[in-house]
Amino acid sequence: MTVINATSVQEVVNALRDYPDARLIQGGTDMMVEVNLNRARVNDVISLRRVAELRRWHLEPDRALLRIGAGVPFAEMERAPLSLYAPALAQAARTVGSPQIRAAGSLGGNLGTCSPAGDGLPVLSALDAVVHLRSATTERDVSIHDFMVGVKKNLKRPDEVIVAATVPVLQGFSGYAKVGSRNAMVISAASACLVHDAIGGTIRLAFGAVAPTVVRARRAEAWLGEQSNLQGSLTVSPALAREFGQRAAEECSPIDDHRSTALYRRHAVAVLAERLLLRANEYLDSDSRGSHE
Ligand SMILES: Cc1cc2nc3c(=O)[nH]c(=O)nc-3n(C[C@H](O)[C@H](O)[C@H](O)COP(=O)(O)OP(=O)(O)OC[C@H]3O[C@@H](n4cnc5c(N)ncnc54)[C@H](O)[C@@H]3O)c2cc1C
Repeated sequence: MTVINATSVQEVVNALRDYPDARLIQGGTDMMVEVNLNRARVNDVISLRRVAELRRWHLEPDRALLRIGAGVPFAEMERAPLSLYAPALAQAARTVGSPQIRAAGSLGGNLGTCSPAGDGLPVLSALDAVVHLRSATTERDVSIHDFMVGVKKNLKRPDEVIVAATVPVLQGFSGYAKVGSRNAMVISAASACLVHDAIGGTIRLAFGAVAPTVVRARRAEAWLGEQSNLQGSLTVSPALAREFGQRAAEECSPIDDHRSTALYRRHAVAVLAERLLLRANEYLDSDSRGSHE
């Protein structure tokens, strides 16, 4: 077995070209489970841990976009200053595993594994994120909606590394919620992310763990836009929020498995969507971002 400790993205993509069967490892919180429990055979390994450029995040010059390096760990996403620009991602990060898992586990690893229950993925979907991929010869930007193609399947080629994901910094509420069999250290049985773009006048809602991959509730989003003015602050009644949740739940295709039943999952996402919309309704934009720059 060859272990390559890359120190730059260029070294990573060169190593992927030279060792086509090599596996990338960032925090190892999924990879080591695959190796130890599922007995996955790994020949060569390219470690990303020393690639400093993967662990950085920054705001684009106009401050409307946030680019998060694939190696940024959940522990950093859950805290200020990053949490101020991506509040739903921070909420999702706080629900991941234990402090040890959050210190090691990364956004790139969540995308690499592409589990429908990955907590970062509904947030990226609701925010219409763009995933940046690089190989020794190509660079491409892929919409998150095209990137996730099935249960633990994504569009990344074996010679590519995920470099970063870019999301908009929105004015308005954004929130994440999940349910599982207990309150902490649990993989989602169902999850939801709702964001309100108060300037663009849209609500976007994505669900995790209720379909082969993360799903956007696009019909419910459009329906809500017809019922209510979504620009500025919201005025959503409890009855409207309930119907929104129920309509959104119809867009899932949950299954029965060891974590939950399909019936419970559908009920849970309806409640999560309703609650998140009511929270968006109560939200007043505090000017908290300015004080941490
Ligand atoms: C005890 C425990 C609890 C957990 N709880 C949760 C939870 O609550 N929520 C949740 O979402 N997940 C959870 N996980 C799963 C895991 O922590 C996450 O999926 C995490 O995001 C993986 O990140 P990582 O850096 O450790 O990935 P790794 O294990 O290093 O890699 C995972 C996969 O992604 C690939 N990869 C990694 N980085 C890149 C890159 N830059 N480019 C291309 N491919 C890449 C690897 O090759 C591998 O296939 C848990 C895991 C454990 C062990």
